[in-house]
Amino acid sequence: MSKHYDLIAIGGGSGGLSVAERAARYHKRCAVIEVGDLGGTCVNVGCVPKKIMWYGAEMAHSLEMAADYGFSIDNKGFDWGELVKKREDHISGINTWYHSYLADSDIDEIRGHARFLDAHTLQVGDDTFTADHIVIATGSRPVKPDVPGAELGIDSDGFFALTKRPDRVAVVGAGYIAVEVAGVLNALGCDVSLYLRKQQFLRSFDAMLREGLMEQMLADGVSIYPNTQVAKLEQEAGAITLVCDKGSRTASIDQVIWAIGRVPNTQGLELAAAGLATNARGFVETDALQNTAVEGLYAIGDISGREQLTPVAIAAGRRLADRLFNNQPERKLDYHNIPSVIFSHPPIGTVGLSEEQAREQHGEAVKVYQTRFTSMQYAFSRREVATAMKLVTVGAKEKVVGCHILGPGADEMLQGFAVAIRMGACKQDLDDTVAIHPTSAEELVTMR
Ligand code: FAD
Ligand code: NDP
Repeated sequence: MSKHYDLIAIGGGSGGLSVAERAARYHKRCAVIEVGDLGGTCVNVGCVPKKIMWYGAEMAHSLEMAADYGFSIDNKGFDWGELVKKREDHISGINTWYHSYLADSDIDEIRGHARFLDAHTLQVGDDTFTADHIVIATGSRPVKPDVPGAELGIDSDGFFALTKRPDRVAVVGAGYIAVEVAGVLNALGCDVSLYLRKQQFLRSFDAMLREGLMEQMLADGVSIYPNTQVAKLEQEAGAITLVCDKGSRTASIDQVIWAIGRVPNTQGLELAAAGLATNARGFVETDALQNTAVEGLYAIGDISGREQLTPVAIAAGRRLADRLFNNQPERKLDYHNIPSVIFSHPPIGTVGLSEEQAREQHGEAVKVYQTRFTSMQYAFSRREVATAMKLVTVGAKEKVVGCHILGPGADEMLQGFAVAIRMGACKQDLDDTVAIHPTSAEELVTMR
């Protein structure tokens, strides 16, 4: 079979689905090629299952605190398998919904692995498909290090495949996934060690966030090993031993979870047949309009080597379709001031420049407002959780260039402040906004 389209998206994840949906709205003939489950990383092995596990972990913390609020609760334990089953049922529902959504939107769903024959032709199995516009949205996958025994450890995909709660877990890595997974496992009753090859985790984030979160994780019982490179994994009698670069050995670990980053999915895509090369890190580079070096070929989402976040892939896809098919020749995603949340315990919400970055760029013109307090929710609880907030401003008008929050509710607090910052808010605009009381968020408009 052979068929021609206006637009084909390779990959039915956040980016591919969004560009095809928007193009179909402009009455273009579109197809999405997907080798795995519709929804991609976010729906199947990313944001969605992660957030459900995070809610489970938050529930565990709430149960711990219930007695402080006068409840007498007999907690008979936690069934990991039951939560995982409900989570996977929920995800199957999303997968099913996507199939009918594509059909209802007149978007062809092509099942299988795509490879380029030339810049406008793709092969999937025995079929070929051509398109005027082809969008590469093949995403990324977790990587394991090149050390002996690495295969004894699992990655984030393996974490979501666990049907039983492991007792002793070592998480290796220092980014979003490492702190999120370590936090969930710890709250759900595992004995968790976190191995950092450097001194800190979340190194690119504002120091207040990473220092505050590390303090909290230590207080909550996570063992953190900084400056420790895992050199080898060994298995003896069903347990895994971590051998570290300085010779130390950690015995009796049930699961080792690698959370050391992700690599682009270009395997078997035959980019060279389309005249495309990848950059030194293996990503498909684009200009600001998502154009690759070959006309009619575009890249969006994780594969493009920019911020690896679902809303970034979606926004890039929608804007690309607007530009190609809705007479908006300059429409593009502005990659500045992208807000993001780390679903740690408590969560982190962050947008814009860290204090360090602002001082590097603007020197003496930077003024910082900062506060640390205990939210009323924890005023009389045994578990202490601090909230920390920072506004980074620049210049005489104190334009807000960064907003950083660590604390309960930070995940939901940040979105509105991200809008204000994108619109160019200055400190005075926040000061002039009437506070909502009693909340933690009100501190962001009352800081001195
Ligand atoms: P993907 O969603 O990965 O989709 C790519 C699709 O392409 C896949 O389905 C793949 O099967 C398919 N594919 C690949 N090659 C081919 C081929 N040759 N032919 C056909 N199909 C192919 N982001 C957030 O914003 N918030 C979060 O809370 C968050 N949590 C995360 C938690 C985890 C554990 C992980 C791993 C990621 C998380 N992310 C989160 C990041 C987010 O999931 C990704 O940035 C997002 O899914 C990227 O979308 P994408 O369309 O670029 O790629
Ligand atoms: P990240 O790139 O965020 O972090 C991985 C970190 O692990 C590196 O920065 C590095 O930190 C450390 N590392 C790298 N190699 C090794 C090694 N061999 N041994 C020990 N540590 C190592 O990757 P993640 O896998 O955490 O997540 C991938 C992306 O997915 C994120 O960047 C994010 O964009 C997205 N994501 C978003 C989430 C959200 O929005 N809430 C949640 C989860 C993922 P260092 O150099 O300091 O050692």
